[in-house]
Amino acid sequence: MDCDVAILGCGPVGATLANQLGAAGLDVVVIERDAQVFPLPRAIHFDGETMRIFQSLGLRAEVEAISRPGTKGMQFVNAEDRVLMVRAGTAAEGPQGGANNHYFHQPELEVVLRAGLARYPNVRLLAGREAMAVEADAAGVRIVLDDGLRDGIVTSVTNGPDAPTDPQAASDAAAPTEVRARWLVGCDGGRSMVRRAIGSTNEDLGLHQPWLVFDAILERELDLPDYTVQRCDPARPMTMCCVTGQRRRWEIMLMPGDDPEAIARPENVWPLISRWVTPADARLERSAVYTFHSVIARGWRRGRLLIAGDAAHQTPPFLGQGLCAGIRDCVNLAWKLVRVVRGTAPDTLLDTYEPERRPHVQAFIELAVRLGAVIQATDPAVAAERDARFLAGEAQVFEYPQPGLGPGQHAGALGGTLFPQPRLPDGRRLDEALGDAFAVLGDAAAIDAVDAATRERWRAAGAVVLRDPGDAVAAWWRTRGMAAVVLRPDRYLLGAARDAGELAAVSALMA
Ligand SMILES: Cc1cc2nc3c(=O)[nH]c(=O)nc-3n(C[C@H](O)[C@H](O)[C@H](O)COP(=O)(O)OP(=O)(O)OC[C@H]3O[C@@H](n4cnc5c(N)ncnc54)[C@H](O)[C@@H]3O)c2cc1C
Repeated sequence: MDCDVAILGCGPVGATLANQLGAAGLDVVVIERDAQVFPLPRAIHFDGETMRIFQSLGLRAEVEAISRPGTKGMQFVNAEDRVLMVRAGTAAEGPQGGANNHYFHQPELEVVLRAGLARYPNVRLLAGREAMAVEADAAGVRIVLDDGLRDGIVTSVTNGPDAPTDPQAASDAAAPTEVRARWLVGCDGGRSMVRRAIGSTNEDLGLHQPWLVFDAILERELDLPDYTVQRCDPARPMTMCCVTGQRRRWEIMLMPGDDPEAIARPENVWPLISRWVTPADARLERSAVYTFHSVIARGWRRGRLLIAGDAAHQTPPFLGQGLCAGIRDCVNLAWKLVRVVRGTAPDTLLDTYEPERRPHVQAFIELAVRLGAVIQATDPAVAAERDARFLAGEAQVFEYPQPGLGPGQHAGALGGTLFPQPRLPDGRRLDEALGDAFAVLGDAAAIDAVDAATRERWRAAGAVVLRDPGDAVAAWWRTRGMAAVVLRPDRYLLGAARDAGELAAVSALMA
């Protein structure tokens, strides 16, 4: 089976990338070991930028239907429930064109993303198939698959033109033993085989700690907080979250002496949370012990092999940002890969992927590790000193970091900054007018004064040009003393310009 791009892993990151490449018309094969979406509890939060990316997939309404906006923020409290630190929430529309935070159940999101693939006959999904080996050379990549046999039958389900409609035909047809691709992106999670094939090393940012994670479905109304609580109790650090509907999440740190297998059993889970909920109030949905890691790979590309998502980095979930970071990898990588496959950009464009993304994701992981040190203090003396420090003044308010991209395909002080998504005068969100191409936004005077060669460059790149797109949009560059901005397809700035001459110079980077 041949294709432009093979994606190993159809978790949220692989499925997002497949939707992006599918929409661009590339021939894509996605290989996924599990026949069904992974059912255990994992991510429950994503941010406004991530929702904006789901919007770019044409799936905003579908994702809204399975999530809820988070308006109440997060509180860090001590063992006496006194507030130490706050991430403020807001019901207002944020800079990304929607709520700043959203809560959801990861398996439901993955179902939406997989269903999105059905729109693209050029995307074939081989589910229930495991990649056993990866071989790459200058011409392409060969991925060797297992036989797909589970209990004696082939379980592959294919999306795409050759997708059989009845199970027997599926079983007969779904037996390719290898996939050949021009490019392979490993979205194959923390134990990534593609990362090993690249030969990357993992840089350790210092936090590795087992936690029990479980979801419960409330069966009657209880007086529980409708925001996230990080209980910094040295006797048993714990996170409590309101997810969606009646679903509640508890994450409980394992203490020395805890048996990871035993603690996940219902009879041991309930006593840990009896202060808030009992088996008479709720049904235990799923529980599992995870070790939270903080690592970043060095080496996200070698030749035709690339990695994204947990394959490239892992963060403890105290900021709810692991999946978000993986989705940001996709949006950075997709537009570059599309142009390289089409032959409109050299493959060196892909060398900007890791340098741009690495410092960005590292800023989030480092903050999560610092928050982890606050939450995970189990020495009573250390916790008492921490409480005294925080309680000496007002509760500290912290925000998400807003790092720019590292060095890469952008220029100037504002290059590599995420442009917001305000509303246009007609009420649409900005990206709805921009599509998936480059975009030039600016004051009419600067845009009208550019030379013919720059206009031709915009035309050749398929750039959308918006002159005077309304005060809500223009405020961004005007408050920074600029007259125009050029946006990349991922909505990060290629650069900003004070006049037509600078706009021509920034536009040259589209090539
Ligand atoms: C308890 C917990 C809470 C979390 N909370 C949050 C949160 O609130 N917000 C947030 O943003 N993130 C959160 N995360 C992180 C988030 O769940 C992960 O970052 C996300 O799942 C990573 O997605 P991925 O697609 O990169 O990898 P995965 O979800 O691991 O998917 C990888 C896929 O690759 C497949 N695969 C692997 N190897 C092969 C092979 N050889 N052949 C075929 N298929 C293969 C696997 O079957 C799997 O489906 C949390 C994680 C945990 C554990």
